[in-house]
Parts: sequence; structure tokens; C-alpha cells
Amino acid sequence: MAAADIPADIYNHPFVLEVSKHFPGAIVTAVRPKESDMVDMSPSKFEPFSRAFQAHIDAALEIAQQEQEPRTYLGGSRLGHDCARALAYEYTHTPVDTGRHSPGSLLRVFDMGHDIETRTANYLRKAGFTMLTERADGRQFGFYIAKHPETGEPRIAGHLDGVITAGPDVLGDVKPGMATGTFSPLAYPMLWENKGLNAKGWAKTLKQGVKRAKPIYYTQMQVYMHHLDLSANPGLFTATNRDTGELYAELVPFDPAAVQEAIDKGVKVITAQSPEELPRAGGNREKPPCMWCSYQDRCWSAPASGGAATPAPNWMAPPA
Ligand code: SF4
Repeated sequence: MAAADIPADIYNHPFVLEVSKHFPGAIVTAVRPKESDMVDMSPSKFEPFSRAFQAHIDAALEIAQQEQEPRTYLGGSRLGHDCARALAYEYTHTPVDTGRHSPGSLLRVFDMGHDIETRTANYLRKAGFTMLTERADGRQFGFYIAKHPETGEPRIAGHLDGVITAGPDVLGDVKPGMATGTFSPLAYPMLWENKGLNAKGWAKTLKQGVKRAKPIYYTQMQVYMHHLDLSANPGLFTATNRDTGELYAELVPFDPAAVQEAIDKGVKVITAQSPEELPRAGGNREKPPCMWCSYQDRCWSAPASGGAATPAPNWMAPPA
């Protein structure tokens, strides 16, 4: 820094005063960050190629996604969705509104969630948990219910991230002398569900817990605990902050009422004659959940509710 660049009142600057207090007599030669340390956020000559490259990858992902065989069942992971009509659109493979396909950027975020799942499972194994993520035949653990009377195909199904069959009784016994806190002993087997969250979703979950912050994940865990016979012990929900790598963990006790509500909804969806037979969840397409919905044009151009709602069969005995 040239002497001419140094402000005249530099010796009254709080930083300089603080340094002088701790190091009397020190000569302060510069207090401004070096230009080279500052991040230049203006567009660079590298940006056009980078953007074109990303668009190329994303287009390929979008095409692959559209060519994928749609699943023939209603996913257990979707049963916590607010809107039965939206689930019925998904279940019946109704084409999404023009321009509302998941963009490649979002598909990459989903993939990051799968990657984080594998990584977190390995972290848990290193920390002494016996984590099973697939059956002996290599297939995922899953449940298959509400079989179609003619084809025998399940109409509601789900696959879980893992089951922890053994592990530490209390937290903190990985390293001698580590504080353990005062948490209830862990009990096995326990269902394990893992998600990758952006910083906002992660902070909300930390503050409110998974039931309030992420009701879809909460319901998913409940349905899986019930159908995989894992309801005796709380399930373990973990989430990684995709921005910082921080880990969130919560023990989620079994909640039979949530299971009943979810399965009732699922049965309504699979037995509806058309999605529009089911009521809309939202009263305003500009607000949640409609504002995020890929079927909003179709939904809001249809009558409010096409016909009599299908009576909900007893969830314990869905149509065979
Ligand atoms: S637009 Fe709203 S009410 Fe219609 S299906 Fe989507 S979420 Fe449901």
C-alpha cells in the first residue's frame, strides 16, 4: 500500500487501537484486506462456457428422466403430501403441465441426496452402528401392499434407506472420555431414513423437528415403521446440511394415527376414478402447496371436485 493511500485518521481506527493496546509500539503498516483476498463476483470470461456445459448436462438428465419407466405404484414416501389429488395425478401418470418438468438442476440435487445417503450410512458404520441397507439378495428393504385384484401388482409400495440392527447403547462411547449427555438409551432394530437438505431446510428441521419441518419425511417414516414391523423402537432420522456438512439426527417415535391418515389417503388415491374426483388441498393456486405443483394448470382448469369422493376403506384392509 502506498503511503498516499493510507487514510489520515488511520491511527484512530478501532482495529489499530486494539492492536496498539496489545502490542505497544507496534508499527501498523496496513489494515485493509489485500485486493487479491477479495472475491470478485462479477461475471467472468469463464462463465459462458460453464453455463453452456451445465445446460448440456442438465438437458441429458432431463431426457433420461422423461424416458424412464414411470413407477406403477404410489410411493410410500409420497403419502405425507398435502394433496391427494396431486398424488392421484402422479399415480395415474398424468403428464405434468407444459414447462413444469423437473429441471436438470433439481435432478442433480436429488442425486446428491442419494449420494449423501451412502456416505452417511458409512459414517454410521464407522461409529459402531450395524447398518443394513439392502437384503441378502441385494434388493432394497421394502413393503408392497394394496395388490391389484387382477394383476396382483402392489399399488402402494415403499423402499427404505436402512435398518440399524445393533449399535451403541448410549451416545459417546466411540471415544473414551467423550461427554455422553443425558439421552435415552438407543434401542434396536430401528428404521433409518436419511435426507440431504439445503441450509434453510436444515435450520428449520433443527429448530422444529422433522414432524413440523418436514411432514412428508415424518409420514414416510411412520408408514415404513408400520409396514416393516419396526414400530417397537423410535426410528432414526438423519439429515446432512448440503452447504456445511452438518449432521442432524432425531429419534422419531411411532405414531399410529399418522400411519392411518397416510394409508387412508393412499387408498383414496388408488381407488379414485379420476384425480379430479379428489378435493384440492389448496384454495389458491398462488399459494402452497399449489404454487409448487406440476399439475396446477390442469387442476385449476378442472371443476373443484368432479364427483362424489370415494369412501375411504378401512386402512387395515385395503382392497386385495
Ligand atoms: S394444484 Fe394444488 S390442489 Fe391441484 S393438485 Fe396441485 S397441489 Fe393439489
